[in-house]
Amino acid sequence: MVTERTVGPIRPPSEAHSLLIRVTVNCPWNRCEFCSVFKGKRFQLRTVAEVKDDILAAREQVDAIRRWAEQAGLGDRLGDIARYNGIPWLENDGVKSAFLQDADSLIMKTEPLSEIVAFLCETFPTLERVCSYARGKTVFRKKPEELRRLRAAGLSRLHIGLETGDDELLARVQKGTTADEMVQAGRKAIEAGFELSEYVMPGLGGREGWRQHAENTARVLNAINPHFIRLRSLRLSQGTPLYEKAKQGEFHVNSVEGVLLEIRRFIEDLEVTSELITSDFASNFFMGGVDGKFPEDKEKLLKSIDRALAEWRRTGEPKRNPFLGSLNQSVV
Ligand code: SF4
Repeated sequence: MVTERTVGPIRPPSEAHSLLIRVTVNCPWNRCEFCSVFKGKRFQLRTVAEVKDDILAAREQVDAIRRWAEQAGLGDRLGDIARYNGIPWLENDGVKSAFLQDADSLIMKTEPLSEIVAFLCETFPTLERVCSYARGKTVFRKKPEELRRLRAAGLSRLHIGLETGDDELLARVQKGTTADEMVQAGRKAIEAGFELSEYVMPGLGGREGWRQHAENTARVLNAINPHFIRLRSLRLSQGTPLYEKAKQGEFHVNSVEGVLLEIRRFIEDLEVTSELITSDFASNFFMGGVDGKFPEDKEKLLKSIDRALAEWRRTGEPKRNPFLGSLNQSVV
């Protein structure tokens, strides 16, 4: 019998085919003013034994599918059979990618987390990457030798929510860290051997703060030079402090044209050698696809933003401002 595993609510789009392993529950910080994902939910560390049980449950699932496929003479179509059965993380030649949930797995002490990652890699020897979200502040606080230990255990990629490189905005949205700490965290992660994915939130500066948001975010990313940069535009969610501020008129959501100008400025200032800068979140639909490599695709990305700007200027602002989410549109 296959045991039920616990799975968290979020993962990056690039982890759609990863085995999700929940090592902590919810977010240990939970104060970012734009974030609704874990609001009102208590943070919990899971025990090593609980997580290992989940890893073994996933292994049981794989073994059960393999047995069935072999009996049916379809042993070479393991991945297809898994997908038909709602398991997107198993491929024909095994499990290739795993993602540790929830919001900040590195908050767990280094020793138990290393033990979990090593067990995961032993249980699924075909794994090519093991990734996790991590708060910048948590990575900043880890000693270099702790990061190296996690890397040696098999953790290979960290996804950090930078959101903005502007100190004033970081403080205003209660990110709980500074631009300098974000730079140090990113550099430490890369020096320890991790692949690093940094998230930027277009629109977070609002109408008044877009320029400082764009310029300082580019400055911080230039200092880190991460492997991946992901844009994830602001979308106000009910129940968040930023939603309430917008409702009270204390935060002025920018227009689509304003946010496109902000992204243009950000890309102009960006001087990195990242493998990928991407807009692979649904909330970015208005920018018409910003995907490329740096520095070679910089001009291509600027042209694509210019096309999106021309299109929005031609058609006019959308009736529903996408950054307002469910908030009454009259607030713009
Ligand atoms: S650290 Fe991440 S998950 Fe936690 S509140 Fe901030 S944005 Fe949300």
